[in-house]
Amino acid sequence: MKHVVILGAGYAGLKVVHELQKRVKGDVKLTLVDRNNYHYEATDLHEVAAGTKKPSDISYPIADVVKPSVTTFIQDEVTALDLANQTVKLADHKDLTYDYLVCALGFVSESFGIPGVDEHALPMATLKEAEAIHQHLLAMMDKYQEVQDPSYLNIVIGGAGFTGIELVGALNDARKTLADRAGVQPSDIKINVIEASTHLLPMFSEKLATYGINLVKSFGVNLVTGARITKVDDGQVEFQQGDPEDAVTSTMEAKTIIWTTGVSGSPIIDEAGFSARRGRVIPSEHLTDNDHDNVYLIGDVAAVMPPDGNRPYPTTAQIALGMGKYVANDLASRLTNGQHLTTPFTYKSLGTVASVGNTHAFGEAMGHEVRGYMASATKKMIANESLFRVGGFREVMKKGRFDLYH
Ligand code: NAD
Repeated sequence: MKHVVILGAGYAGLKVVHELQKRVKGDVKLTLVDRNNYHYEATDLHEVAAGTKKPSDISYPIADVVKPSVTTFIQDEVTALDLANQTVKLADHKDLTYDYLVCALGFVSESFGIPGVDEHALPMATLKEAEAIHQHLLAMMDKYQEVQDPSYLNIVIGGAGFTGIELVGALNDARKTLADRAGVQPSDIKINVIEASTHLLPMFSEKLATYGINLVKSFGVNLVTGARITKVDDGQVEFQQGDPEDAVTSTMEAKTIIWTTGVSGSPIIDEAGFSARRGRVIPSEHLTDNDHDNVYLIGDVAAVMPPDGNRPYPTTAQIALGMGKYVANDLASRLTNGQHLTTPFTYKSLGTVASVGNTHAFGEAMGHEVRGYMASATKKMIANESLFRVGGFREVMKKGRFDLYH
């Protein structure tokens, strides 16, 4: 009996389970481990944070995907990996010993060691963290009613990457609801974004990036660029602009500081002794660790290099699903005949679209630049496809985005 252990029920891990349990016969056992008993659409966390979606809108039970005759699901926290002894350590269950291991443990918010971030800024890397942001925003609106201090209406977003930009859009959609709760006008809710780079959205053409930036600014958002956040205090962000030698230091008061300056792979990866950087490993062409061929690294813990590039592909749900599918096929092959697939993992992106609120978006899809209404619909179709690829038809019917025409 061969034992395949899959760690993490995000896009990548759940995709492996979904595909592999259709393929294996009686002599293979699968075990899936996740700290939660639900899967969530990490691409929509910003909407839960803003309160434009409920946690239940973007999540579904792992039990909907798991076939108990093949797969055992364990809800627990992975605490360590012992690669030499092929063992996974869990917080509340016995150690698991594997023949093959799939590490799909996802990402955490990266503070880059900036003082005060862990204590005073709100991360948005999990469903619980996104929901905590929403609850915090509601509490700040209530507090404003009590003390009438405008810093309770101020929101600072640290970092204008895709996550920060998408969050701005959702917060703009939520402005009226938040303002009603605080008893103020929507324009009194101040959304500020502090971004280190002066060259935003570098993956897009200059024209498309400018469109995105102007779209965000048209919402009355204060976008401060070329500003590195150097410290976070309770209700205050410190940032520096200009050359490091003669930089000008400024501060901004806000009772809500949301941290979206980037993510790293699960800390379990660094601790396990893989050759990794910020929780990410450059895997082999079959997505296995170069030193442990029975260990796969997929999703946000993998840094996959394009054949002709020197920067890894961006970590997205789309590539995570592709990796999950490839690994299920590769494992099915190894479990049947002991051989890897003859073809390596390859990836072709369907496109990259940032949604800015429910009705605006921009990006590139199938080689075309898309803006506005059409881009928003395209994004929802890509999201439906992700849902379909993991959860199947049942989840699309329950949670799919059918408001394509708004
Ligand atoms: P990111 O690394 O892409 O962006 C972080 C931003 O924060 C950067 O612009 C960086 O300059 C800025 N920053 C870093 N340190 C800072 C500091 N001290 N002060 C001010 N600004 C600072 O991170 P992300 O936006 O979380 O995205 C993570 C990954 O997920 C990316 O690969 C992204 O493409 C992907 N993603 C994709 C989508 C989508 O396809 N729609 C949505 C969200 C995220």
